[in-house]
This record gives sequence, structure tokens and C-alpha cells, in this order.
Amino acid sequence: MVSIIVRYAPSPTGRLHLGNARPALLNWFFAQSHGGQYILRMDDTDFARSTRTSADGIEADLAWFGISPSLLVRQSERTALYDQAVVTLKASGRLYPCYETEDELDRRRKRARALGNPPIYDRAALKLTDDDRARLEAEGRKPHWRFKLDGRPVQFSDLIKGPQTVNTASMSDPVLVREDGSYLYTLPSVVDDIDLKISHVIRGEDHVSNTGTQIEIFEALGGAVPQFGHHNLLTDAEGQGFSKRLGSLSLSDLREQGYEAIAVGIMAALTGTSLSIEPYASFADIAAKLDLSMISHGPARFDPAELDSLNARILHTMSFETAQPRLAALGLDNEAAWTLLRENLARFGDIVELSKLITGPVEPVIAAEDRDFITAARELLPAEPWDETTWSTWTNALKASTDRKGKALFLPLRMALTGRHDGPELKSLLPLVGRKACLDRLL
Ligand code: GLU
Repeated sequence: MVSIIVRYAPSPTGRLHLGNARPALLNWFFAQSHGGQYILRMDDTDFARSTRTSADGIEADLAWFGISPSLLVRQSERTALYDQAVVTLKASGRLYPCYETEDELDRRRKRARALGNPPIYDRAALKLTDDDRARLEAEGRKPHWRFKLDGRPVQFSDLIKGPQTVNTASMSDPVLVREDGSYLYTLPSVVDDIDLKISHVIRGEDHVSNTGTQIEIFEALGGAVPQFGHHNLLTDAEGQGFSKRLGSLSLSDLREQGYEAIAVGIMAALTGTSLSIEPYASFADIAAKLDLSMISHGPARFDPAELDSLNARILHTMSFETAQPRLAALGLDNEAAWTLLRENLARFGDIVELSKLITGPVEPVIAAEDRDFITAARELLPAEPWDETTWSTWTNALKASTDRKGKALFLPLRMALTGRHDGPELKSLLPLVGRKACLDRLL
């Protein structure tokens, strides 16, 4: 049996956003549910744009989700492997030197378009003789290197999208090595997938045509071709893709805004799938339920309002055991208070303000026309000990002795005791606040 090994391969040119959290998580769930390994591969061959700070940030973003890769590799440290592959491809005639400048290529593409032809590379460099090349190099030109495609329908069975055909005849031979000897993404990815024995490549559907090219490269290098699964891309409500520039949706920003990692993870991974968006207990729980076949073929539109409501639902049912370490860090380690207040949380951090409803300080709000009523209420406040029945004993006594009922009775009490017109159930809040503090708030 082939062992399951997946990789998540971000380019460390910024922090992760919701859109690239999707493959990070889908790979993680796949590895978890199949007892497989998860490799984190930093695609940092673009020296100008990749930074170590971004790479470290990505590791932190993944750790927030509880993702712990079994191995971390950096492409910048693996150049010798790519150099070897280049030797192999040159020897078999699949990699050929080209000397066109960007300008020349641009002009040719324009000309092709004007003639109604597809703007694909015309392989002029294949016709160069040794003398031509020597002359070009004597002029100071350095070659970039293209992979010679077979130009055929490359077929593969996509784990998400079903049978796929990519016709490489309609594609330009891809440049694998730049003039300065640096590598573009295409070759190192294949070399690493072979070297690290990747069994499944799960990535965005923007890579489908790459897969056609890369399958040819796998075969040219004599490597085992992994299975591919291309997922739909997360978009905003207007159908626009997420980019690193949409900073407000970077995972680190969402984290700072106080969202739960699991809420963000559920939205990133399950939007645009047939698995419902719900407060799952853990990522392991999702891994057990999600199958790649559940990923829809249509768009995956992210709705920020859904993130808010999911985040709230997760908090409303969060057990004290789960919340306890974070509560302790805030000095709010009180089970009864948590159980009462959690229902009013939109973000976990709201607990700090809400706890003041119990511990104070509270700024009572008493309208002039309620003043006498509140004085009466203060006098009728039952003696301790207090429990959950205290509230009805008190309000029944008030109903009997004043002409108030319903909202006219309850709202002034709430405003005086909490300073707000909504919030936790007063019946449960009262015993936690205690008689003395209530008396103070009813002044
Ligand atoms: N670095 C590539 C990207 O972020 C990786 C694609 C792949 O998974 O092969 O798009």
C-alpha cells in the first residue's frame, strides 16, 4: 500500500489569508483522516519576494489551527536536487535554451494575436544551431530554459473534479529556469513531490493546467505521478478571489480581532462544500466527516456575516473545560459565570466586559420616571441566601405592590442592575451579583 503523504506549499511572500488557509486545512484533514503525513513546503525560490519573516508567520498561522507538520522543507535549501533534474532533462532533450528577451516575446505574442493565432511560444529556439547559440552568447545573452512539452491530451482523474484532460498542445513550453539560473515554481514542485514521495497533491483549481505540464515533467523525470485533487477557490461575496493584499482577512488579523481558530478554519475549509457549516467540536471531528468528494464544483463564496454567527454559536456552547485556561489567564475562572455569560459573547474577549456585570463596576441607568419604582424595588429586594428563584420572588412582590408589569417592570430593573438593555438572564445573574452589590446599583 502506498503511504499517504501530502504537502502544503505556500510561497512565503506574506501571511496566510482565508483563501490559502483552504488548501492548508484540506490537506490537513486529508492527512488526519487517512493516517497520513503532512509536509509543509516553503516555495521560496523567488528570492526577491520570499522572506523568512513570512515563512515564520505562516508556521505561526498553521499552529493557530493546531496544524503541526511532520516535516518542514524550504525549496531555497534544495537547489542541488533541482540542478540534478536539470541535468536529466537536458540529457533527454526535454530542456532547451532560449535567448529571446521579454520584449521579443511580447512582440511575437502580439503578432500571433493579430493573425488570429494563439499566443503560444513558437519554439524558434529549437531551430538554433550551435553556431547561433555561440554567437548569441558572445553578444552577452544568457539563456533561459524551456521544457519541451509533448503537446498531447494529458489525462488524470481528479479526486474532486473527476476525469480531466489538459491539452498541452495548446500551451507554451514552460520556462523552468530563468536567465539568472533561478527556478520558477514548476520544476522544483515536481522534483520535491517526487523526492518527498508525495502521494496526493491537493491544491486550488487555478493549478489544473499546471498539472498537465507537471505530469509531463513527472514522467520525463521517471517519477511516480501523485493523485491530484483541485478544489474550488474561496471568493468574497462578489466572486473576487482573496489576495494577500486584502489584509483584513489575513489569519493573523482575524486572530487579533478575536475570532476562534476553529470558526475561521470551518469557514475557510467548508464554504463551498456539502458538509454543513456548524460548530464542530474540533478539527479532528471535521477531518472524520469531510471527504474530498464533498467539495462542490461551483464557487465557494465566503460570507463574513456567517463567520460572525458561527463564531458566536461556538462560544455559546463552549464548555467550561475548554474555556477554562483562557479564562484563568484573564483572572475570570468561574464556571457559573462562564455558563451564564457565554450566551452573550460575539468574541471570546467580550467576556472581560460582560464579567463586570457580576463583579462591577456597573454604571446603573435609572430614568427620572423610574426613580420611585427603583426605590420600591430596592426596599423589596429579598433577603439572602439567593438562588435562581430570587428573581421571581422579587418581581412578583413588585408586581403586587406597584402598577407595573411586563417590560415596564423588567427593563428598568435590568437598566439599573446592568446599565444595558440586553444581556444575560437576570434570574441567573442575580445570585452571582449578590444582594449587597444589587443594593448599591439600585441607589
Ligand atoms: N506555491 C504554490 C502556490 O502557492 C503551490 C502550489 C502547489 O500546491 O503545487 O500556489
